[in-house]
Amino acid sequence: MRVAAGLILASAMSLGMASAAWSQTPAAKPAAATQAAPAAAPAPQTAAPQTAAVANPPSPQQAPQPARAACNNANALGVARTVEIDTTGGPGFGFEHFKELDFLRDHEVVLTFDDGPWPHNTPAVLKALADECTTGIFFPIGKHSTYEPEILKQVYAAGHTIGAHTWSHANLNNKKLTEQQKKDEIEKGFSAVKWALGGISPSPFFRFPALQHPPEMVTYLGNRNIAIFSCDLDSFDFKASKPEKVIDTVMKKLTKLGKGIILMHDFQKHTAEALPTLLQQLKAGGYKVVAMRAKNPVSTLSEYDQELLKDVKLPTVSQRPVNSVVTTVSE
Ligand SMILES: [Zn+2]
Repeated sequence: MRVAAGLILASAMSLGMASAAWSQTPAAKPAAATQAAPAAAPAPQTAAPQTAAVANPPSPQQAPQPARAACNNANALGVARTVEIDTTGGPGFGFEHFKELDFLRDHEVVLTFDDGPWPHNTPAVLKALADECTTGIFFPIGKHSTYEPEILKQVYAAGHTIGAHTWSHANLNNKKLTEQQKKDEIEKGFSAVKWALGGISPSPFFRFPALQHPPEMVTYLGNRNIAIFSCDLDSFDFKASKPEKVIDTVMKKLTKLGKGIILMHDFQKHTAEALPTLLQQLKAGGYKVVAMRAKNPVSTLSEYDQELLKDVKLPTVSQRPVNSVVTTVSE
């Protein structure tokens, strides 16, 4: 979906009908997604999640992520190392575009997942990661986060790192977009993720849709102290015809490179299906997962937080049809 969704949504956005343009609409009800979630979601590590549900923005000093659950799988892939990232100045990661920061050791990998949250597929990815007691970085689309906030909350509760991936998956190299519209895509994406997490700010980690990096936005993110994530190896899972293809592509590229930040999509069905076997093959191949944590959460801009509240359909508890709520008693 890295390229295709960008094209669909970028063109749809210009027509003002982005959500209607999806050929795949969210099919699952939130209840089904909840059942598929990891059973042992850990309690948050700090008091921050409880206080963060109020309207006030959380303190920049809040812990960005809860702790992961205790591991009950003795043969799990696990997490070999956790690194903390100081995002001051907007460092870039991923050798496909950024060559400066070579921090991974031989046979170390970072698992990254784009374009969620999405019913069925994101919960399946969460289960696969939980079964192997391992972790990844999620780069959700802002709009998807407003469709499925409960699923994004599950990602957070499981202790994974969450960044952002624009509001509508627009290709920011699109010449039809003004500089302000590009900034809006970035900022509203972060604000949407924060809204979906009940007011908890995500990590200042950003991935450009389709890995299209306009230089002025790279500079902008640097001034906003937001790290940029390209990748070392692309699974091309959005093009894969079957789960086995995803596994084959990742393992072959890893054999060649020896390590790397792996780009996948929790949005993709084949990726969700491939992940249990892929994680087992990583373990068998001697690969080790590195967790990346931000030193501080992102500071969203209040005007985008406010704008978002006008856009999202606020979740009411009642799901009853209109004719059971509104009854004509006289006319
Ligand atoms: Zn994407």
